[in-house]
Amino acid sequence: MAKVNYQPYQPKTILNTQKHGDGGWFWGKYSASPYIGCQWGCVYCYCRDEKYNPHKKLPAEKAAQLDDPFSQYIKIKTNAPELLRKALAKKSKDLIYLDCYQPVDSKYRMGEKLLKVCYDLGFPVFINCKSPLLLEDLGLLKKIKRKSHLNIGWSIITARDDKTRSIFEPKAPPVATRFAAMKKLSQTGIITGTVFMPILPFIYDNAEDIENVVRSTKEAGGQYVLDGGLTLWGYCGTYFYKALAKYDSGLVSKYKELYNDNRCFHEYTKQVHELVLKYCRKYKVIPYIPRPVSFYPAKLRKNKEVAAHLYLEAREIQLSGQGGYREWAYRKGAWALDEMSTNIVEIYQQEGKDGIKKIKGIGDKLADKIVLILENKI
Ligand code: SF4
Repeated sequence: MAKVNYQPYQPKTILNTQKHGDGGWFWGKYSASPYIGCQWGCVYCYCRDEKYNPHKKLPAEKAAQLDDPFSQYIKIKTNAPELLRKALAKKSKDLIYLDCYQPVDSKYRMGEKLLKVCYDLGFPVFINCKSPLLLEDLGLLKKIKRKSHLNIGWSIITARDDKTRSIFEPKAPPVATRFAAMKKLSQTGIITGTVFMPILPFIYDNAEDIENVVRSTKEAGGQYVLDGGLTLWGYCGTYFYKALAKYDSGLVSKYKELYNDNRCFHEYTKQVHELVLKYCRKYKVIPYIPRPVSFYPAKLRKNKEVAAHLYLEAREIQLSGQGGYREWAYRKGAWALDEMSTNIVEIYQQEGKDGIKKIKGIGDKLADKIVLILENKI
């Protein structure tokens, strides 16, 4: 493995708060990462993009010595646990997304320290992970599960540990060890499953590969498969295309054709998602992450549940290639419900559908949908 430079430092903040959370996907409202850069060095990683990596301005002379600064120059936020404790103490309880387990964590143990903060303050956690290193903190993970909520999603792009995978995930742990770790977690009753992202076009998007991922998830006790496509924004795209050309230069033009034609791209996304849905039905695996609501105040739980329906509908519209106005209508409706402090059931009981239509962002059709949800008809 190439030499890695470690740079400890003390930032001023660590917690990111999303205005609306990532409804329909991981359900995170907050996120925190104790490291910048990732030693696993997946070539498709969207975190390579400067947009997600604003602190990482590597001195030019250092960058010139490294093949891949993103995976070879890791900044460590040594004050991460204290910063997180201080920040979460002022926040309302909601799901926090963590992704800490890379080799440097064996030394700094930030995964364990951040989890301890979440446990102490009773914050529910979602972890997206590629490394069985996480199992070293199993005792603490079980405690979080008992006290608030825990879900561990395994980042997996194929069930095959072959030469192709090692091109796109050159340093990440074998997939077999990820499924083995998933099995261990599922045996303890921890919610776990597969984050099947990104499904690489023309490489892992065929029926056989997709079925293998869903089946392996089921066999490992995973409850869900959450699929998503590849994004090629900014530097992330530049880096990916270089690796793709080395793998198979003929694919570069196929990718460009796909990514430059919106209609083709939406049709393609739809076909791949339909395959995932087909195999999820076959193996009885949920094709999304169910929203946890138990940690919200009792009077808001129904709002969150109804909002979850709308978020998931928005995600389905997006993945069916028909995003646009309808998708946004659902998303805005979900945001409105998520931010409301009045119980939607009370509104419906007192004023019926008219009361629901008074909620900002909810029109006639969406109100009909919400009524059906409230009456358990969908
Ligand atoms: S493990 Fe995750 S964060 Fe790390 S390089 Fe791979 S995709 Fe990026």
